[in-house]
Amino acid sequence: MNAKTTEITCPTCGKKDTWQTDNESRPFCSPRCKLIDLGEWADETRRIQDESDNAEQSHIPDSDEDE
Ligand SMILES: [Zn+2]
Repeated sequence: MNAKTTEITCPTCGKKDTWQTDNESRPFCSPRCKLIDLGEWADETRRIQDESDNAEQSHIPDSDEDE
């Protein structure tokens, strides 16, 4: 009476998990690992956006009032 299971290895963390058809994150073990894999580039973009956004917000009003 063994359930038919397929083992997968998460590409992000290498954790072995069971393939579940209702797992939307497959072949990743969790949504988190899926986000990490998809967000490897987005994470850097976010940081750059975040930094430039902060810089702009504090810089633009200052130079605008200066002139
Ligand atoms: Zn994982």
